[in-house]
Amino acid sequence: MKRLKDYIGSSIGIRLTLYYCAILLTTLVLCGLVVIFGMNFALTKEANSKMNLAISNIQNSLETEGKISLNDPELVDQAGSLELWVEIYKDGELISKSPNLGNINLPYYNGPVKSILLKGQEVLISGKDIGDGVFVEVAHPLKREKHFLAVLSGLLIFLMMGATLFAMVSGYISVTNTLKPLAILTRKVKEINTGKLDERIPLSGPKDELYLLAQAFNEMLERLEKGFRSQQEFVAAASHDLRTPLAVIKSYTDLLKRWGKDDKKILEESIQTIAGATQRMERLVNDLLFLARVESKPRLNFVKLNIRELIEEIAKEAQALSQNISVTFTSCDLFVNADEDYLRRALWALVDNAIKYNKENGEVKIISRQEGNFAVIDIIDSGIGIKEEALPRLFEKFYRVDSSRQSTGFGLGLALSKEIILLHQGNIKVTSKYKEGSTFSVYLPIYPPAIKGKNASR
Ligand code: ADP
Repeated sequence: MKRLKDYIGSSIGIRLTLYYCAILLTTLVLCGLVVIFGMNFALTKEANSKMNLAISNIQNSLETEGKISLNDPELVDQAGSLELWVEIYKDGELISKSPNLGNINLPYYNGPVKSILLKGQEVLISGKDIGDGVFVEVAHPLKREKHFLAVLSGLLIFLMMGATLFAMVSGYISVTNTLKPLAILTRKVKEINTGKLDERIPLSGPKDELYLLAQAFNEMLERLEKGFRSQQEFVAAASHDLRTPLAVIKSYTDLLKRWGKDDKKILEESIQTIAGATQRMERLVNDLLFLARVESKPRLNFVKLNIRELIEEIAKEAQALSQNISVTFTSCDLFVNADEDYLRRALWALVDNAIKYNKENGEVKIISRQEGNFAVIDIIDSGIGIKEEALPRLFEKFYRVDSSRQSTGFGLGLALSKEIILLHQGNIKVTSKYKEGSTFSVYLPIYPPAIKGKNASR
């Protein structure tokens, strides 16, 4: 019993089939009962009215012809095929009795039609005084009706069983076929691991719930695969960027070990190179740590911030640090809801790039403006520009455009800026013309409307 229960519990197909068969059987039984009770009621009603008709025929015959003969088949056969037993009493004496009664005597009953048991069988009986001391009693045995109802019940039970059995078998086959994709899905899920993320579930058949489930599952695999690959690329790129300064440090320490300690020039050069490499590693580790913090959606300290003031400060700082590039700004009072430190870092990375990737005596313009519900900050440079094919990957971690590989950056600045701007419910866009310059536009929601929740994170 427990094994049967476990088997049923382990299969949706069997459960669904049994569930729908139970519903079907209940419906059929209810319909059968309605048919049986309806037929019983209709047959009894018909017998009832024919018995009453027979009594009034007898009464008419007595009134018009002054006599009653139960041998006249016309008299009681008004009831058609209905078998009627009739007894007529005059002043309490039985004067006539229908031949089909044989030696049966009807029990005395004066009243409307009711059902009684007579000699072991169910009989409808009715009695009436029809005047002149004449009393008529009519009865009808329900044998035929009972037989008809028994045959009908048997037939209905047979049909119900047949229909339920058919529904069970065909239902099980069709449910099992319908759920087949689930079995494929389960097998595929078991097969998938990090080394096999390119597996997909074949999509076929109608676009039903199972199709949509398989499709959603494939999309999830797509995202997982992308995430996993970018994680692998990230680790590879980070290791690569750490390996270079480490190799430099190692080769200079080897050099020092061999001759450097006594050679002042080599000693000086080694110390400087090792310090530079250490600094570069420190920068990379700091950037990575900061990126990890930004990606973990930290709680930002949102305040109402005037973009004009922030831009003014950044532009002045930038101008002070770069002598041969002109940094100008055009700004008006525009308020946003932002974490000043984070936003400053995001904008500074863009301004820093605009200076780094500029031409000799080039210029950088910082402009703020309003566009709909957004404050927009454009950072425009007249620098080396970016080739169109490089634009889609520009905000990826560790991505550096080939021509600028000689730069000292790690390719993390734009990824960081984008993450920070996204944390502010904003966006960042870039347009560029190769060798002519680039424009990075930062979109931030105007204050108000406020960002959802005080320290909202995306
Ligand atoms: P990096 O630290 O290398 O500057 P970023 O993420 O800031 O990293 O930039 C990624 C790459 O995008 C850079 O290596 C550079 O090739 C390109 N880039 C970014 N900003 C500009 C710009 N204003 N003009 C031209 N190229 C740019």
